[in-house]
Amino acid sequence: MALLDLFSKDVQELENEGILMTSLEKLVAWGRSNSVWPATFGLACCAIEMMSSTDGRNDMARFGSEVFRASPRQADVLIVAGRLSKKMAPVMRRVWEQMPDPKWVISMGACASSGGMFNNYAVVQNVDSVVPVDVFVPGCPPRPEALIFAVMQLQKKIRGEAIDEGLTKLPMVEAWAR
Ligand code: SF4
Repeated sequence: MALLDLFSKDVQELENEGILMTSLEKLVAWGRSNSVWPATFGLACCAIEMMSSTDGRNDMARFGSEVFRASPRQADVLIVAGRLSKKMAPVMRRVWEQMPDPKWVISMGACASSGGMFNNYAVVQNVDSVVPVDVFVPGCPPRPEALIFAVMQLQKKIRGEAIDEGLTKLPMVEAWAR
């Protein structure tokens, strides 16, 4: 196709011919949202469900998030899978601090989000008080499908398609971040 032909057509006509138009920011966000690598970090029984999310039956690889990284420096998302003891809280905070920006947190299960049944002196009652949580997953334990749904919600957030509780659209992460 000649270059002049390209400028004479509208976006719909170009799409029909297999040519996609987008901005660099949207392209980077699309790539990022489809490769959200979690840190290898499990705290309690919820972590077993987290591991199951990558098996052949659930196959989180379909959403690009099966690559659990042993180093937080290579991870994009911290999945807080299980109850967080007060003794472990500074360790988890350290892991989160070692992750490069932009980074995200999923709070998985009732214990991580609210202390669950462990309303006592030893357990943190909301991990949001230790690290900023992007998505909360309810359940005890949440099924792998619930975690995968949370990853899909996070993908929307990264692409700038998510809305907050006041129905305001959340901004997309800047392309230059990291
Ligand atoms: S929410 Fe349930 S499954 Fe998850 S850590 Fe707590 S007790 Fe275990």
